[in-house]
Amino acid sequence: MLSPDPGLGPVLSPDPGLGLGLGPGLGLAPAFAELDRPVPRGAEVLVRVTAAGLCHSDLHVIDAGGMGFPTPFTLGHEVAGRVAELGPDATGAAPGDPVAVYGPWGCGRCPRCLAGRDNYCDRRAELSWAGLGLGRDGGMADFVLVPSARHLVPIGDLDPAQAAPLTDAGLTPYHAVQRCRAALVEGSTVAVIGVGGLGHLAVQLLRALTPSQVIAVDVREEALALAAKCGAHVSLPAAADTPRRVRTASGGPGADVVLDFVGTDATLELAARSLRADGDLVVVGSGGGQLTVRKPSALPAGARVSLPFWGSRDELAEVVALARAGTLRVEVERFPLSAAPEAIARLRAGTLPARAVLIPDGADQRA
Ligand code: NAD
Ligand code: ZN
Ligand code: ZN
Repeated sequence: MLSPDPGLGPVLSPDPGLGLGLGPGLGLAPAFAELDRPVPRGAEVLVRVTAAGLCHSDLHVIDAGGMGFPTPFTLGHEVAGRVAELGPDATGAAPGDPVAVYGPWGCGRCPRCLAGRDNYCDRRAELSWAGLGLGRDGGMADFVLVPSARHLVPIGDLDPAQAAPLTDAGLTPYHAVQRCRAALVEGSTVAVIGVGGLGHLAVQLLRALTPSQVIAVDVREEALALAAKCGAHVSLPAAADTPRRVRTASGGPGADVVLDFVGTDATLELAARSLRADGDLVVVGSGGGQLTVRKPSALPAGARVSLPFWGSRDELAEVVALARAGTLRVEVERFPLSAAPEAIARLRAGTLPARAVLIPDGADQRA
């Protein structure tokens, strides 16, 4: 049974088999559907969802009508849960285990996937999905079917509402920061553009892992306040003179690294103009902006531009360890899964603290 238009109006009453998906018959807005409990086959593992984060990428997918992935599929690529049932060939997990789900599922057979680096799967172009909740059924549901136990990272007693966003909002900036660790040395400056779900964890990670000066940039005052709370040394509103202010704060030359968690024309321009010569411009945000690579251009001499995607399974384990040690704290607002449309509207309006986390109705009691 499908709700006529729950993406915009009232939603179905909470139901044990509810899932929020996109697809034909569901319209462009995401809609709830009743789903059967999946049966794990082969090496698959069935996970009962305890929390699912809502990412800005979900908005991009919704607004792009599924982003070219075959529909229907259930949304939700930031997932924590408990192992519910193992397929006959599954090993490495036991019913009841509390886990976070590593989401960038690849082909599972290429050297990258076998090394736990599915985010850079060699066969990505041949696959019709980008991962969990991105063309494959995701975790905005009571259950999620995971292809293999190798995608499960134990979370111990970590709150599932903290663990779920770590799988993307934590992992993606962690991976991005690791890739430019060599530049993030004593005396260096890093600028973080966009202090939302990913950005506020980027600030915390940079402070915990590097000696760099951290400059946060956002258009929202609340985000700048959050950046300061997360340890940013300097918080700047995004404006025409921001590159100049970044240079001044850096002592003159500009930022050694700019992490852009927005990725629009405006932020890419801001990022390029804030960058030091021989600096790293790291484009994480999927805002669809364009940056011209040309000599000469707004990019300084020696600039390196990179497009990191998600992170590796080992990096997810490291992020979970940091959170369990109290080094990372996700700023979360919880919503029952049945209130997902409200959470989506709040994300769109920019009125969430940082991350909305959806809790399947009744999951708190049975976790
Ligand atoms: P979010 O909505 O939680 O945060 C975005 C932040 O950017 C907000 O604080 C917003 O105020 C700020 N912002 C918007 N326009 C701005 C501007 N012009 N200048 C400065 N700040 C601005 O989003 P999120 O969930 O953190 O995701 C951020 C982006 O990263 C999205 O585009 C998402 O699709 C993308 N993403 C990429 C990957 C990857 O692997 N590369 C992974 C996850 C998310
Ligand atoms: Zn995401
Ligand atoms: Zn692969």
